[in-house]
Order: sequence, then structure tokens, then C-alpha cells
Amino acid sequence: DQGLSQSRQGFADRFNKFLSNFRSVDEDFFEQLEDTLIGADLGFELAIQISNQVREAVKVKNIKDKDQIRDLIIEQMVSQYDQQGQGEDQSMHFAPAGQPTVVLFVGVNGVGKTTTVGKLASSYKKEGKKVLLAAADTFRAGAVKQLQEWGDRADVPVVAGPEKADPASVVYTAVAKAKDENFDVLFVDTAGRLQNNVNLMQELSKINRVVQKVLPDAPQEVLLVLDATTGQNALQQAKLFQQSSEVTGIVLTKMDGTAKGGIVFAIRDSLHLPVKWIGFGEKATDLRPFSAEDFVYGMFK
Ligand code: GDP
Repeated sequence: DQGLSQSRQGFADRFNKFLSNFRSVDEDFFEQLEDTLIGADLGFELAIQISNQVREAVKVKNIKDKDQIRDLIIEQMVSQYDQQGQGEDQSMHFAPAGQPTVVLFVGVNGVGKTTTVGKLASSYKKEGKKVLLAAADTFRAGAVKQLQEWGDRADVPVVAGPEKADPASVVYTAVAKAKDENFDVLFVDTAGRLQNNVNLMQELSKINRVVQKVLPDAPQEVLLVLDATTGQNALQQAKLFQQSSEVTGIVLTKMDGTAKGGIVFAIRDSLHLPVKWIGFGEKATDLRPFSAEDFVYGMFK
């Protein structure tokens, strides 16, 4: 929990300071609440909406107590998050028993794809699953070696090709192996060079086709990895990937590096994609399934 609560410190500090200084729930209070929420990357409109809802509820319930107001704000934020969605499924999708589940990880360089694959490999391995990794990021120097190190640590095999190998051929080998040797899950780390969008998207669709040649129902998930510290930039990236591939969910990394947890709301609001995992550090255990309630409560701790 350490990492996650650290990541909230900025927001929580500001919020608590403002809450401890307040004397009455007046217009000044709501103005400060709006500022604090905007400062957390929630976006202007959302901050105003939440503030308005809190204002209404304060009136209706005649709330004067600090703790009650805090709870009310949390409650409004969670319900706002839920309302923004369209019933997206936050859980991971798995193949029927007896077939490997294939998960592709996409996103631009440096967002934390390889690290996330490593973390998930370690966590599913601990659960007793038979895990295979594919190093299809043959473009970024060091990516293959980095994945192999994660594989070694988690005691999970890694399929890799020669340097600059065709990613699709690495993926083909990996999917065939996963099927023939009854692996439970295959995690595919893909390249994310952004210099050439067209090529990147073509490469991703080629990888998809190759996967489906061996396993027609796969991939079960295409997880887009986004770096929370990049704010609005992350949203732009997401729109690009959403246009050209079948993204099924988001992994939001580096939450330890930002006090602006509100980006989660912005993603929900504009993409309608479920955030499935959040990363908050570089260690294998610094990843957890996303829960809006835990997340919002965490913001205030
Ligand atoms: P990729 O290019 O998308 O595969 O990105 P990497 O997995 O290589 O990650 C890029 C850098 O971000 C590395 O130094 C990682 O250790 C670091 N990183 C990844 N996830 C997190 C995270 O949740 N928190 C922090 N602080 N660093 C992270």
C-alpha cells in the first residue's frame, strides 16, 4: 500500500490542509474544492460537477462536520466514476479451460509495457498458472533482455527471436508453443515506436492475425499501457491506439510518480475503456487490479 498512498500524498496533503482550515461550508469552500480537484487532473467540468453534487448533498443532508464532508466527496467521486462508464468489465478475460489465454500489451515506448508484463507474469505464476512470455518488442534495444530478466526472476520461459526479428514470427512461435505445451497464459510484449504510426498499427494488426491463425478466439485481451505522469498526452495516445486496434482495457503505470490520480476519470470519461490494472512502482508487486472505490479512497489517504 505504501507506493499507492505515497502517490496520493500531493492530493491528500492539499485536500487535508484545505479541509482542516475550513470554518464553514460556504462558497469559498466550494471554490477551493474545485481548485483541488482540478489540480488532481480531474478536468474542469468534472471538478465543477462533483463540487455541485457535493453542494446539493450538503444542503439536503445538512452536513457540517468535516469527516462527513470528506466521506460525501469520496462518495460523489466514486459515483461520478461509475456514471461515466458504460458498464465496462474491469476483470481480465480468460480463454475457456484447456486453451491458453493470450494478452497483448501495446503502447508507446517507455510507458512501462515490459515492466507490466514482468509484474503480471510473476503474479500469475505465484497463483500457480503456467505462464509464457513473448518478447515481440524486437525494436527497442534492450527490451528482449529486460523481459528475459523478468522471466528469469519469475521462473517463467520467454520466447525471443534473433535481434531485429520480425515480431509477428516471434509471436507465431510463442502462440504455437503456448497451445502445444498447454500454457495457461501467454503475455506478449510488443514494440511501441511512435515515429511511424502507420507501421506500428500495421505491425499490431499483423500480430493479431498471426495469433488468430493458431488460436481463433485469441487474443482475449489487448491492454493499452499508459503512463499516468503524462496526463493529457496519455489520452492522445489512447485515442490513436483505440482507432487502429481492438484495445480491451488500460493499464495505468507510474501512479507513484503523480499526485494527479484524476487522470483515471478523464480516461473513463473520454475513452470508455476499463482501467484493469494500475502500476505504482518498479517492483514485481507494484501492480494491482483497479477498483474505483479503493482508488478514490486512496486519493484521500
Ligand atoms: P516499455 O518501453 O513500455 O516496455 O517500458 P518499460 O517497461 O521499459 O518501463 C520504462 C521505465 O519505467 C523503466 O525504467 C521502468 O522501471 C519504469 N516503470 C515502469 N512501470 C513503472 C511504475 O509503475 N512506476 C515507476 N516508478 N516506474 C515504472
